[in-house]
Amino acid sequence: MSIPTRMLAVEFERPGAFRVTDVPTPHPARGETLLRVSSSMICATDQKILAGKFPATKFPHIPGHEFSGVVVANGDGVSVAPGTRVGVEVHVGCGACERCREGMYTLCQNYGKREMGHAHIGFTIPGGLAEYVAIPATALHALPEEVSLDDGAWTDNLGVSLWALERGRLEPGDHVVVFGPGAIGLCALQLARALGAGRVTLVGRGARVAQVRDLADAVIDVAEVDTLKGTADLVVEFAGTAEAARQAIATARRGGRVVLGGSTGVGTELSGVDLSTIVRGNLDILGSLANPKGVSGRALALLARGEVDVDRLVTHHYDLDRFPDAWATFTERRDGAIRVMLHPTEGH
Ligand SMILES: [Zn+2]
Ligand SMILES: [Zn+2]
Repeated sequence: MSIPTRMLAVEFERPGAFRVTDVPTPHPARGETLLRVSSSMICATDQKILAGKFPATKFPHIPGHEFSGVVVANGDGVSVAPGTRVGVEVHVGCGACERCREGMYTLCQNYGKREMGHAHIGFTIPGGLAEYVAIPATALHALPEEVSLDDGAWTDNLGVSLWALERGRLEPGDHVVVFGPGAIGLCALQLARALGAGRVTLVGRGARVAQVRDLADAVIDVAEVDTLKGTADLVVEFAGTAEAARQAIATARRGGRVVLGGSTGVGTELSGVDLSTIVRGNLDILGSLANPKGVSGRALALLARGEVDVDRLVTHHYDLDRFPDAWATFTERRDGAIRVMLHPTEGH
């Protein structure tokens, strides 16, 4: 298939302003692969990027960090077979710094320095809300046969969710409480079950929660969260607010673990926590960022085995030229929107 010289892409022009526009199709540089993007989602992090909360993102910027596609060309030094269906992990470390050498490439000390080999796809380099994207080949995960391109767009998200559970040392039989009924929280909920949690409880509210009640043993409205106080072996927070972090800490049993994963953008401060809750409670309070150490690949294996249903979390599908509608549907949570999926090159 020939590759056109120009393509359609979403462009964040400056903080607060975006458009769908025609741009040159990228060429894969050394070490990079060119993908034809099949399925690409919007998430709350894109809202933070558009609001200017990721200082390393330079405008104008092509967003998109939850996507899948098909390999169409390789740069020098790469030989992925054209036609390979792939999911994408968005953190690419330099490979040489101390954190990368520990396998913690999500914490690369050369963050943002493309010339050093670092890339954060959809953040510091152009992402997948476009017909084509050129990305480091090390970001690719070939999709197992059982995994569709739509499901493969969850490669990074599933890694994020699984890493939070690994951070929290989930043990079979644990009571796991998840704060945040968004896509990442709902993946964490399902993975916790798949990994043997004894009981999973979701804290949240709204139209989204009504659609996913069966994914949890109990759903607790945020107004009733006090009823969970001190009950959880493991609490996972993907709500992204200070209030949720406070409640998450209060929900852990003495000696329990709390993993905070929601507040990825700068500017949310935690106050109102009695520190003795943490000290006398002997709590582990852990931050969890993204998906290091190949965790996305392991998550894909669970997806291939049918342990997680991501398809039901995609509530809306659009062609790329309808991005403004897709954005409004997601950001205003119209019709119980959980994830909204764009299809830059494949009809749906
Ligand atoms: Zn995201
Ligand atoms: Zn590094």
